[in-house]
Amino acid sequence: MTAFTESEERRDLRREVAKLAGGYGRDYFTAQARSGGKTTDLWLEIGKAGYLGINIPEEYGGGGGGIGDIAAVCEELAAQGCPLLMMVVSPAICGTVISRYGTEEQKQRWLPGIADGTATMAFAITEPDAGTNSHRLTTTARRDGDGWLLSGRKIYISGVDEAEHVLVVARTEDDRTGRLKPCLFVVPTDAAGFEAQPIPMEIVSPEQQFTIFLDDVRLPDGALVGDPDAGLVQLFAGLNPERIMAASFSTGLGRFALSRASSYAREREVFDAPIGAHQAIAHPLAQAHIEVELARLMTQKAAALYDDGDDTGAGEAANMAKYAAAEAACHAVDAAVQTHGGNGITQEYGMAGLLVAARAGRIAPVSREMILNYVSMHSLGLPKSY
Ligand SMILES: Cc1cc2nc3c(=O)[nH]c(=O)nc-3n(C[C@H](O)[C@H](O)[C@H](O)COP(=O)(O)OP(=O)(O)OC[C@H]3O[C@@H](n4cnc5c(N)ncnc54)[C@H](O)[C@@H]3O)c2cc1C
Repeated sequence: MTAFTESEERRDLRREVAKLAGGYGRDYFTAQARSGGKTTDLWLEIGKAGYLGINIPEEYGGGGGGIGDIAAVCEELAAQGCPLLMMVVSPAICGTVISRYGTEEQKQRWLPGIADGTATMAFAITEPDAGTNSHRLTTTARRDGDGWLLSGRKIYISGVDEAEHVLVVARTEDDRTGRLKPCLFVVPTDAAGFEAQPIPMEIVSPEQQFTIFLDDVRLPDGALVGDPDAGLVQLFAGLNPERIMAASFSTGLGRFALSRASSYAREREVFDAPIGAHQAIAHPLAQAHIEVELARLMTQKAAALYDDGDDTGAGEAANMAKYAAAEAACHAVDAAVQTHGGNGITQEYGMAGLLVAARAGRIAPVSREMILNYVSMHSLGLPKSY
């Protein structure tokens, strides 16, 4: 591999995923979203083709690749108009945490289903009263015989209806100090005491967000992932992949919008030339294209550092990539809507329908403000602001 270009293998992967996803395309995605359908066919097909589990170790049914590979899959799906949030959550966050820290039994039990898409895992950290401040989490697991009782509430949890399990961030009492420490639990979505209610959202997507109510959900001892004393480290292991994937989701979305807008601008004529001949139309698209390409480069850098084992270097790059990608996607979609004129707000052209999905990239999984806080402190050495 020469610097700044991906390997031939990675580029082949992108082409193959784009071909597979192109067979479904935006029309399929929006039709499913508007009819209350799901993208299960696409999900299982990418699972069967080995793309969904491409980052999971081979001995557990995966492809043995890295975050760079799964991020490429996520981006190419979005670039074909099929942005799948569950790609961020199931293989990248849950798959990484369990691969890195799960016991042998846990890996054998959960990873193959994550890899082939038959046992998707959602991820739940956000709580209504804690929000961005994860020190305020109150979902708690208490010892109960040789198992656990889990209680609390989570909000905006994606894809609970499509998941077999949810990886829940909770707190347990430290036996020695009595202080609460974060721990990760795998919770079956059909467990007694587990209830999920869909949240009406404005995103045009078959994937929904849910409030989860956990009322003394009884879990076996083996539901606690990895080492009970290393919860925070384990949680952090999922954050870089999460940001790299979220960035890829956004750059893919940006590419999709720009591709549609450029075709439209080449063809639509209202004066004597295509509207793309007017710089007022061309420049915002060109500007957004530059931003998307810059964000892709930073995303690939973050993935390369992460896959090289440099978690700290990857942290800064992943945060920057996620920030830049969300901004680029917002600018790209906004320019794409404008390029389409009135058609930009119709369901037929589907451009305005991308606005909320692109906008969500500035909020989740970590907000742009928290990234700016991170860069202020860690990259620029400024005082902590909160
Ligand atoms: C589409 C979507 C899917 C999601 N999926 C999941 C999921 O699968 N699992 C999951 O656990 N969560 C999920 N989330 C939740 C998401 O991670 C949170 O919405 C996000 O972390 C922000 O938290 P909040 O909504 O509580 O905002 P708040 O924490 O209430 O923040 C509100 C605003 O205040 C700003 N703010 C807060 N504190 C500071 C500060 N110190 N400095 C500067 N600004 C600050 C924030 O940046 C934000 O703009 C999802 C959210 C969305 C929109």
